[in-house]
Amino acid sequence: MIVRKSAAEVAKIAAAGDILADCLDMLAAEARPGVSTADLDELAERFIRARGGVPTFLGYRGFPGSICASPNDMVVHGIPGAYRIAEGDILSIDVGVTLDGYVADSAITLSMGAVEAEALRLLDVTRESLEAGIAQCHEGARLGDLSHAVQEVVEAAGFSVVRSLVGHGVGREMHEDPQIPNYGDPGRGPRLEEGWVLAIEPMVNAGGHEVFVADDGWSISTGDGSLSAHFEHTVAVGKKAPRVLTRRRSETGGAQG
Ligand code: MG
Ligand code: MG
Repeated sequence: MIVRKSAAEVAKIAAAGDILADCLDMLAAEARPGVSTADLDELAERFIRARGGVPTFLGYRGFPGSICASPNDMVVHGIPGAYRIAEGDILSIDVGVTLDGYVADSAITLSMGAVEAEALRLLDVTRESLEAGIAQCHEGARLGDLSHAVQEVVEAAGFSVVRSLVGHGVGREMHEDPQIPNYGDPGRGPRLEEGWVLAIEPMVNAGGHEVFVADDGWSISTGDGSLSAHFEHTVAVGKKAPRVLTRRRSETGGAQG
């Protein structure tokens, strides 16, 4: 069942989203070669709690961190720990914030220092595919239109969308209906309605779409060792246009979007 949110509920998710957006901007400023993913996790937890929020991921199904930190060929769900960022890495950071009972969910992939050109292209294409999905978040579009829009951008660039992991509705729970695959057929699936709030999150591999779960039971990496990028926003479906609830100041040239 897809829960439609009232304007007041969307405002609560947006308030959680503001904390989350600022947290990601803070982490992007702090992440550099030599910094460990455990350091970033600690910074994130402190930041979120100082703003009155709760890190949604901490303890979720036993997850031990406030962030997921996934370097290079790791796609998502990396446990923060001893790994130290190296020059030339890409690093995906996924964060959830709960405020006043409502959740926002967002992720970015950072490039650390001098990164190979193909890695930068992967980041650009993944970001662009997320925006293509967001652009479909208005009444009249179907879920398949959104999925297809993401897939089209990714595959036109010669990259692959991960198929076994999907985006999702978000609200009182981090994972609500509907599931949002990053591939699909236009004109199919339910029609989007104002008040749906969706976490759209393309996970894009430079190589093939296959992934595997590591022995830690959490971290998921590309099957072929290729790089992977992940960008995610929490988006409210509008009558005519989407409203992104986790837009970062860094994306909007300093103004809060
Ligand atoms: Mg996320
Ligand atoms: Mg998510």
